[in-house]
Amino acid sequence: MAVSDSVRVRIAPSPTGFAHLGTASTALYNVLFARQNNGTFVLRVDDTDLERNRPEYEQLIYESLHWLRLEWDEGPDKSGPYEPYRQSERLDTYRELAARLLAEEKAYRCYCTPEELEAERRQAQLEKRPYKYSRRCLTDPPKDRSVFAVRFKVPGGEVKFTDMIRGEMKFDADLIGDFIIIKSDTYPTYQFASPVDDALMKITHVIRGEEHLSNTPYQLMLVDALGYERPAGYAHMPLILAHDGAKLSKRRHPEANLALFKEQGYLPEALINYLALLGWNPGTEQEIFSFDELVREFSFDRVQHAGARFDWEKLDWMNGEYIRMLDDGELAGRLKPFLPQLDEATIRCAIPPLKTRMHKLAQGVDYLDYLWLDPQPPALDGDTKERVRRAVEALQDVAWEPQAIEVALEQAVAASGVSKGKFYTPLRDVLTGKKVSLPIHYTLALLPKEAALSRLRGAIDN
Ligand code: GLU
Repeated sequence: MAVSDSVRVRIAPSPTGFAHLGTASTALYNVLFARQNNGTFVLRVDDTDLERNRPEYEQLIYESLHWLRLEWDEGPDKSGPYEPYRQSERLDTYRELAARLLAEEKAYRCYCTPEELEAERRQAQLEKRPYKYSRRCLTDPPKDRSVFAVRFKVPGGEVKFTDMIRGEMKFDADLIGDFIIIKSDTYPTYQFASPVDDALMKITHVIRGEEHLSNTPYQLMLVDALGYERPAGYAHMPLILAHDGAKLSKRRHPEANLALFKEQGYLPEALINYLALLGWNPGTEQEIFSFDELVREFSFDRVQHAGARFDWEKLDWMNGEYIRMLDDGELAGRLKPFLPQLDEATIRCAIPPLKTRMHKLAQGVDYLDYLWLDPQPPALDGDTKERVRRAVEALQDVAWEPQAIEVALEQAVAASGVSKGKFYTPLRDVLTGKKVSLPIHYTLALLPKEAALSRLRGAIDN
């Protein structure tokens, strides 16, 4: 397929809950394709679900995409040549187009009540046939009713299109019943508003999740009926499955919530890299890709068809790699919001041991909260107290920095005749109250000298 330089792609999230991982993944593939083709990436807000939309959810979508640096060229907050970009502000357009379809007899008014439709559905079930609207209101509309929805008169036949991932797709439209395009509350359905906006916003390639694959024939029939040009291409990205292999659910799977990744201290560039590889296979062993490399390398023909299972271990590994790639100053800056209790010098001092250990920034808190929390001094036996006393003695006159502390402690260990492990474990316990900590010389050096010594003395006197 020839791709011209006027490529226009879009994401169309619905602000009905927290920002979803799928939105980030779809946005990423759209952005990669747009950047590869010097195209335009549009953010449209599909907010026609009156009951479930909230402006604060729209904000969460913006925040998450900004955090991931997936910036859009046109959108509700940016304006552009095809504004407005919020469907709730485009209602007149949908109503006019529905009126046109009605006038051309490509759509009709349906006065059926929900109860009547339910009865039709149940009857079909009883007769074990797939349900399709009976067209009662097309052939024999009731005369005495005023509340109606608008139904599209499905022309039937075969709907064909090429998917950039899945190749030739064919759907039998004879199996598709006449569907509603304008609801009785006069709002458009997704099935109508989406292809209308794609056409009016001159979207050339529709790149979205696989869950929309079965919507495409509906939308193409509408595009044809309205006399619009079909998008040049469609790509239906594999579903992201949860870590347990189930469909990703907002309620059950924390990985569905984009905000969580930021809270836990995943780096946006690592998450982008991870998401790119979640559905796409570069065909080489390479796993770490800069954004520019992704733009260069990504192609739809290496996108898998099957669902892609979310793997925390792999993400953690990748995030660790990205953490280690940051220079110390940059890493300290990224850690700062996680450690408001600490000054910059302390964070800087902790970077070398943290950098080799962390796979997400929130772990900085686990390693360093002993600096502002006073751990309970443990009850030590006589021998152990003796070792702590020797440590205090060795540390008293030492310059308070990691290397000098390390040398002094090693001498004390040698003099004590016990192993390093045996000597350091009670020190760690007294200083941090934890089983795992940064190396002992850092654990000490990060505390002010007096505070460190006083914790140790406290345990001897205890
Ligand atoms: N509002 C739809 C969604 O969030 C958009 C689907 C589409 O891209 O057409 O899934």
